Amino acid sequence: MRLPDRSLPQTPMRLPSLAPGFTTRFAPAPTGLLHLGHAVNAVWVWGIARAHGGRVLLRVEDHDRGRCRPAYEAALLEDLDWLGLVPDGPGTDAFRAGPLAQRQSDNTARYAAHLARLEADGQAYPCACSRADVARAAGGGAATGGEVRYPGTCRERAIAPDATQARRVRMRPGTAETFDDLRLGPQAQDPDAQCGDLLVRDRTGHWTYQFAVVVDDHEQGVDLVIRGEDLLASTGRQLRLARMLGRPSPPRFLHHPLLRHPDGRKLSKSAGDTGLAELRAAGHTRAEVLGLAAHLSGLQPSAAPIGPDALADLFR
Ligand code: GLU
Repeated sequence: MRLPDRSLPQTPMRLPSLAPGFTTRFAPAPTGLLHLGHAVNAVWVWGIARAHGGRVLLRVEDHDRGRCRPAYEAALLEDLDWLGLVPDGPGTDAFRAGPLAQRQSDNTARYAAHLARLEADGQAYPCACSRADVARAAGGGAATGGEVRYPGTCRERAIAPDATQARRVRMRPGTAETFDDLRLGPQAQDPDAQCGDLLVRDRTGHWTYQFAVVVDDHEQGVDLVIRGEDLLASTGRQLRLARMLGRPSPPRFLHHPLLRHPDGRKLSKSAGDTGLAELRAAGHTRAEVLGLAAHLSGLQPSAAPIGPDALADLFR
């Protein structure tokens, strides 16, 4: 079993006033088994929601049809049941029972409807570039944050809509999106400088994470997004997209610390990091796993066990 070998600095978490009645979500992608990094996210999501009167939606983010597997969805539902973390919207049994708007592969008609509106307004356009084309046109260099920026090759090319399924949404140049991260404070991001026009559907017809997540948060009334710092750089473009989809007040964001190996790598099940099912099989209790996750993400000074019903105490 491999566990991350150090905890983060303990930073007392003082949340700004959170009025009760907000909706947040736990939104894993079934591309592998849940590991301790997911437990960290769950501790922050359920802890904050239970401490401040919010609701937690479960969403299965299986937009990447090439990498997601039904067996991983079944496993994550089982892990969640074992952790004793109960969603306020459709629960694990509802996911087992059949199609749901909170499963992205069941929600594609909604993505298509939103894209159709953007295309009708001239805010989205077909893109015929391959990944290699984009890398070449971008000069092989990466823009801010190591991303390859789409340089706008197809923006004015009027590619026929049936020539490709790929669509991009225009990111207006020269304007930063500003937001106040509940943990990290004021942020400013310019999506055009970071990534350029945003891919919302790829050439094979698959919806991208960026688009699916913004449509879902909008339609499911998610107004507080609690997730790991690895997604901080995506927030500006998601705010931009939310406004373009007609959402007058986009969600607020809290990015929590991410578990990393000493060399900076993120945890990942495929890289052999310890899965929750493995910890369970090795005889650990749910309270031990939640307590370890809270400790490793800086929420308590030791890995003392903490049950699902006590997570709120970490945020009061
Ligand atoms: N599905 C994403 C993940 O598993 C989380 C998306 C989000 O929180 O915006 O990393």
